Amino acid sequence: MRTEDHLERRRHVERVADDRGAADVLVAQELLDARSSGPFDPAGGVAHRTSGVTPEGLRRVVHEAFDARREIEDRAVDEARPRVGRHRDGNGRSRLGEEPDGDHGGKAYDARVPTALVLEAPRSLVPREFPVPEVGDDDGLLRVEACGLCGTDHEQFTGELHPGWPFVPGHETVGVVEAVGARAAQRWGVRSGDRVAVEVFMSCRACDACRAGAYRRCVRHGIREMYGFVPADRAPGLWGGYAQYQYLAPDSLLLPVPEVLDPVVATAFNPLGAGIRWAVTVPQTPAGSVVAVLGPGIRGLSAVAALREHGAGFVMATGCGERDRPRLDLARTFGADLTVDVARDDPVKALRGATGALADVVVDVTAKAPGALGQAVALARTGGTVVVAGTRGATETPGFNPDLVVYKELRILGALGVDAPAYRAALELLASERYPFADLPRRVVGFDGVGSLLAAMAGDTATGPPPVHGVFRP
Ligand SMILES: [Zn+2]
Ligand SMILES: [Zn+2]
Repeated sequence: MRTEDHLERRRHVERVADDRGAADVLVAQELLDARSSGPFDPAGGVAHRTSGVTPEGLRRVVHEAFDARREIEDRAVDEARPRVGRHRDGNGRSRLGEEPDGDHGGKAYDARVPTALVLEAPRSLVPREFPVPEVGDDDGLLRVEACGLCGTDHEQFTGELHPGWPFVPGHETVGVVEAVGARAAQRWGVRSGDRVAVEVFMSCRACDACRAGAYRRCVRHGIREMYGFVPADRAPGLWGGYAQYQYLAPDSLLLPVPEVLDPVVATAFNPLGAGIRWAVTVPQTPAGSVVAVLGPGIRGLSAVAALREHGAGFVMATGCGERDRPRLDLARTFGADLTVDVARDDPVKALRGATGALADVVVDVTAKAPGALGQAVALARTGGTVVVAGTRGATETPGFNPDLVVYKELRILGALGVDAPAYRAALELLASERYPFADLPRRVVGFDGVGSLLAAMAGDTATGPPPVHGVFRP
């Protein structure tokens, strides 16, 4: 191919990619803004069933964006990408466990082949071996120690949230930096051997969204490059935590994990970060407040701990029915002053009875509980704040009286996702051991057990009751 043709072709691909990127951003924006009925990851995932955007449409846009991006990158590698900083030993294999400027007489990679679980289709998790990624100046490789599992994971597994391509799931990863380039080490403030947690989103650090801290809307990455969602056939394939190794791309975001923290417990950085952001930061909860937390799952328990830590005056936690009974007992150990099973008791009466008042702040972190919004509005005092962070998976809201929003002049705030400051605070709070996260009822599984654990989390009773905390450990 003549050089001009090549350049023209490349310009064309870049234009296409720009267009696709723009389309992708619009879709992402719509998903994040509309969030009308879809399942989503309260800790940072993205809805798929939203009015006006079909899963097929989203898949097509994202697929095309991937293809265009890949084409650019392939060419860029061929034509321009400097090879400096790549380390290979005499056999052409990458070296691990060394920093690029380190002593090359150190240990060479011993030809281990990282294994990962690829979700090839709903309910089909298949082990696959991947080539060891080359580590250059700007990227790195993580040895996965543990990966937390949440609602997104089981919805991907059952197909509710499957993107339509094979991928390595897992987006709540904690591990040890196995190899890192010099520039990346400086940017992330890490060295080989450091334990870190990996943010689900990447950030270009340059676009408006990234500069504003809203990097889940990054124009360069956004939803295309969420960990636990990227196609397995996109090099180097290791884009998720269900694996021995996870690739650390140049725009990944890493969080330092305090030395004392067990990696399995550290995976709670994700739900606890959510608890901090949704119960404290988003509603700007004043110290001394009366707060109601709806939903006693790991995010509800985390919200209770975050509120206690923040100095809330009174914290009530609610659950619904038999399954939530032990979780409400747990909520007490996380600092709840009052727990209510709404299947038996009226939470409004209970809160009034205990405090003589209604809640300054209500935090709804329920899952698939259509009646929760009505309860939240009923529980809020005049001038109070309601944070809606749970999803119902339905548009019906039984018991919701919109007029109460007017009469009480309520602030109703949606909360989606977590940010780095909340994650950092979460990791510090976990390390303080002031709340019993280490003792949470949890199921820790290896490669063989992930499928049945995800099925249990999705409500498949044949595989046992869902644990409060599910964790994969390779
Ligand atoms: Zn998650
Ligand atoms: Zn960006």
